[in-house]
Amino acid sequence: MASPVLAPGQVSEINLTVTPANKARTPFLEIPFQLPSGMTRLDVGFEYAKAEDCALDIGIMDSRATDYPTRSGFRGWSGSARNEFFVATDAATPGYYAGWMPPGSWKLLLGMYRVPDSGVAVRLTLMADAAPRGVTAMPKPATPRVEHPGWYRGDLHCHTHHSDARGGPELLAESARLAGLDFLAVTDHNTTSQWRYFGPRSSEDLVFIPGMEVTTYRGHANVFGLNEWVDFRLGNGGDLDALVREVRRQGAILSINHDKEPLPWDYDYPDMDCMEVFHGHWLTGNDGVLAKYDRFLADGRRVSLIGGSDYHQPAEQERPGPVGLGKPTTVLWLPCLDAPAVVEALRSGHGYVTESPNGPHLAFTANGQPMGSTVTGSDDIALEVEVTGASGDRLVWVGEAGPVSEKLIPGDAWKETMRLPMPGRFLRAEILADASRAKAIKDLMDWCENRIELPRAQQSLTDAPPIRRTLSNPVYFEAPK
Ligand SMILES: [Zn+2]
Ligand SMILES: [Zn+2]
Repeated sequence: MASPVLAPGQVSEINLTVTPANKARTPFLEIPFQLPSGMTRLDVGFEYAKAEDCALDIGIMDSRATDYPTRSGFRGWSGSARNEFFVATDAATPGYYAGWMPPGSWKLLLGMYRVPDSGVAVRLTLMADAAPRGVTAMPKPATPRVEHPGWYRGDLHCHTHHSDARGGPELLAESARLAGLDFLAVTDHNTTSQWRYFGPRSSEDLVFIPGMEVTTYRGHANVFGLNEWVDFRLGNGGDLDALVREVRRQGAILSINHDKEPLPWDYDYPDMDCMEVFHGHWLTGNDGVLAKYDRFLADGRRVSLIGGSDYHQPAEQERPGPVGLGKPTTVLWLPCLDAPAVVEALRSGHGYVTESPNGPHLAFTANGQPMGSTVTGSDDIALEVEVTGASGDRLVWVGEAGPVSEKLIPGDAWKETMRLPMPGRFLRAEILADASRAKAIKDLMDWCENRIELPRAQQSLTDAPPIRRTLSNPVYFEAPK
């Protein structure tokens, strides 16, 4: 492809046709152009006939970028949320990165999500500008820490206008405070530009965890604990090992997201740290994700169970309902509250997921070891369980072969010790709505008014499957050597 040389103040136009054959080679088309030195701003326009069967994404890299996976030169991504954006030395459209603009060969990235058989014409306009502007650096993130061991609550999956939500970071931070969360990972699609806002504002009463949703056309995965952006451009076959290497290199962790319709994980499963088993309201197909998770555990994999609301912050605050930020909430036991402790607790499964920030509390130990631990033994196991806020619901224990025991929860603050035969490779606990089921269904029906999409099989809510309010992480068992 010819690589136009931009001239300051003049519009350059690139016209091309994208076909299924392009997409078959790679889902991300690179469109090069030359940026002269001394430029302080670049404006890009992006036009094509968007349709049911035609959706394209856009992003940009500067002259420092290398082939996949690049660690430098990424300047932003807006997916299909915008048809124009700018990058400047002192500012940028949300989703994009302000900063020095090196001269040389830049490239637009065109993500080919859906391309019709007939192909699609794309018109790109580029205009560089050399007016004097300052250079803004990424502000230094704050590193707050609460020196107090305890249970802390957070949401691990949400979006701002740095990707495809309408609301900005200020509103999302306000939503998190209203929900009473202690930590929040803001996981915009394929960009970390939201960190410019959240990094310096991380505080003891609301710790922000650096995150990003790796968003590909065959599945989504969250990354937590990043120092910098991670290259999301998995090829058609997916280079999951390269992605995992890049994530680990930064001391971060990878979680497979919402592995259910309409966006299941369609690659082989990588060496993931976590799985988002509880995504949004329980009745949006999470049963199927839980069944997959149990199969991973039965196969001997160790994967932490986490939750995320996938809340897309609206332009105005909404009235609270059964769907929203913190629904569900991931609750972690932390030696102290700071971002590294949250990432470590996610990695090791020290916690549980509950329906909302004030959902039932569920913690247990097996032979004195907390959730996420490995216990060696072959005899009966001694369990100590603690449940609050679920009177009249059911506690179910699940092992390698399925449910092994269940009990009606007799009161609001319930503690019990019990023994169970060795349940195989793992044991986890869950709270099923029993006494609370009718209210949960009514609340959801009132809220719905067709606002959330339920899988076809669950459209009749009265026939809906069991509602899981709370899910623990497993304890793993190993035979003595
Ligand atoms: Zn997603
Ligand atoms: Zn998401």
